[in-house]
Amino acid sequence: MTTEFKLFNALTKQSVSKDWFEAVKEWEFIKSEKLRTITHCICGVPILCVCYAKNKHNNNTIQLGRRCANKVFPWIITFVNDKECTELEI
Ligand SMILES: [Zn+2]
Repeated sequence: MTTEFKLFNALTKQSVSKDWFEAVKEWEFIKSEKLRTITHCICGVPILCVCYAKNKHNNNTIQLGRRCANKVFPWIITFVNDKECTELEI
């Protein structure tokens, strides 16, 4: 299973809509931060730099790594030049 497919599955599971393009619209960006210990993106990839998002319809919250955050919130540019973030998440 690709990372993209895992993200799709995990995100739509937490969303009201099961359609990717509709599901993505349900989420709002909360904040991003760099952690001291490794956590996991909803796609399963280990991450150190996390973006938190909240679903406007069911109040679910998720954490996303840099790459998945770029797919859900393409207008938000985070951790682009942070070496630790980019090295961990390939
Ligand atoms: Zn991910």
